[in-house]
Amino acid sequence: MDIYLVGGAVRDTLLGRPVSERDWVVVGADPATLSALGYRQVGKDFPVFLHPQTHEEYALARTERKVAPGYHGFVTHHAPEVTLEQDLARRDLTINAMAQAADGTLVDPYGGQRDLKARLLRHVSPAFSEDPLRLLRVARFAARYAPLGFTVATETRRLMRDMVTAGEAASLVAERIWQETVRALAEPSPRTYFEVLRDCGALTVLLPELEMSEQRLRGLDAAAAIAASTRVRFAVLLRELGTDLTPLEKPPLPIANEAYGVAVVHAVCDRWRVPTDFRELAELVCREHLRVHHALELPPATVLELLETCDAFRRRERFAELLEACEAGHPEQLGLETLPYPQSTLLTAAFAAAAAVQLTATDRTGLAGPAIGLLLRERRLAALTRWRPTFT
Ligand code: ATP
Repeated sequence: MDIYLVGGAVRDTLLGRPVSERDWVVVGADPATLSALGYRQVGKDFPVFLHPQTHEEYALARTERKVAPGYHGFVTHHAPEVTLEQDLARRDLTINAMAQAADGTLVDPYGGQRDLKARLLRHVSPAFSEDPLRLLRVARFAARYAPLGFTVATETRRLMRDMVTAGEAASLVAERIWQETVRALAEPSPRTYFEVLRDCGALTVLLPELEMSEQRLRGLDAAAAIAASTRVRFAVLLRELGTDLTPLEKPPLPIANEAYGVAVVHAVCDRWRVPTDFRELAELVCREHLRVHHALELPPATVLELLETCDAFRRRERFAELLEACEAGHPEQLGLETLPYPQSTLLTAAFAAAAAVQLTATDRTGLAGPAIGLLLRERRLAALTRWRPTFT
């Protein structure tokens, strides 16, 4: 029995990047042997085991064959005779298809090191086209490694386009699309994920509601540049852009656009079963980003109303994320990532001034619930007016 380190750990070590997770392949063994050694079987569809001490994943070398369309249409075959090269052949990219033996020897039958040097994401074999998830994986790896100079190889791009033309993108299931997309949003170059998917035609299938304009992509760059959370990046992705282009002189309430934006957020979030916190922020950004952009012109009462609508006093964190999402890639900022966004500074300070208002026990004397709320509101408004009397 021989054990090899495989996949991401080998790739990232060669790239000089930190390794987060180690996967192993076992050649020349069967499930009984591993179980007898104390490994615990976890794979349902194929034999994957957890090491008794490290709990890292050990998979028996296997081959795969596509027998039916869709994600589950694979038949896997494992046996002590399956070679390491056969196991590596079923992998998506050459840079993911390398293995390292216990003595440090590198096994690289498909040119992974060559492609690492050439900064290319290249498929291992034509079998790549059997699994549409690989479209998303390639785009995600591109988003991660773009800053290192990686691009998708021409022949892989061609293959990806052929897969989309053959209808493969339509068979991706919602959970996997979301899983890959949210991971890609967290990468250093989230724009690259969407560019790669746009270039192969998959984006029209996955996100038909959105035009992936340069402005939208720059918004993602800007969100990544300020290290915004994936929630913020998602909201920036879905931000309704028609309204972004409204000149500041125009009245800030283009109801029709806002309603369209919210409808898009709902459609995408329903389709991908997006978690509630992502959905809520994206919707809030769609509803409120124009008022945020116009913050410098809003009277104190409208600022207070904005803070209340955003539930800012109870959900400070989300309010801060709203400001970040409005700031990232604001049209006035395009190409100037460091341009200040005074709206954010102003609203943060306004929030602090209003949130500092406290009612004393004396203030509350003789008042019931709603009256206390009204008094608090009145005091907050007074605080905002005092704090920035030139608002109007
Ligand atoms: P990450 O750093 O994102 O974890 P990884 O390469 O370790 O990257 P995993 O999803 O953990 O990615 O997969 C481990 C290995 O299994 C990959 O390196 C690749 O060789 C192979 N692999 C995973 N998913 C697929 C797939 N859908 N098609 C082909 N090979 C795959």
